[in-house]
Amino acid sequence: MKVDKKIGKRTYEFTVQGENLFDAVMESKKLSFYDVHKCGCCGSDDLSLDAHVAQNKFKYVTIKCNNRDCRASLNFGSQTENPDIFYLKLRDKADGTGKEQDWRQPENIQSNTSGVAPQQVAQQQVNNYAAQQPQQPRQ
Ligand SMILES: [Zn+2]
Repeated sequence: MKVDKKIGKRTYEFTVQGENLFDAVMESKKLSFYDVHKCGCCGSDDLSLDAHVAQNKFKYVTIKCNNRDCRASLNFGSQTENPDIFYLKLRDKADGTGKEQDWRQPENIQSNTSGVAPQQVAQQQVNNYAAQQPQQPRQ
């Protein structure tokens, strides 16, 4: 069974297999995300799928914006109960009206737009994650 996902102007074709229809459909549901047409930061449709491992253990799948002045990325999360099921990360909208895709730009994008190695960008994302941990209120 073939499953097409549109990421920007590219179409990625996934093939899922199963012993029978049930298994094949269950497999296809692991691709639990919808098409992403535009970058949430700059609106570019020049997007691509990327995957990397951070700190030798954390696996990330991301959608990357290829606009050199933007380079935002959108991480996939996977379910705790079933790490094979991937979905797009969402965050609460600032005005509290619902959820939006969790697009993030590297923090140094304004000052350094020329030559950040992918490795450094990955590290940046990890740092962003660490910074999001809820902080203990100070008494
Ligand atoms: Zn962008």
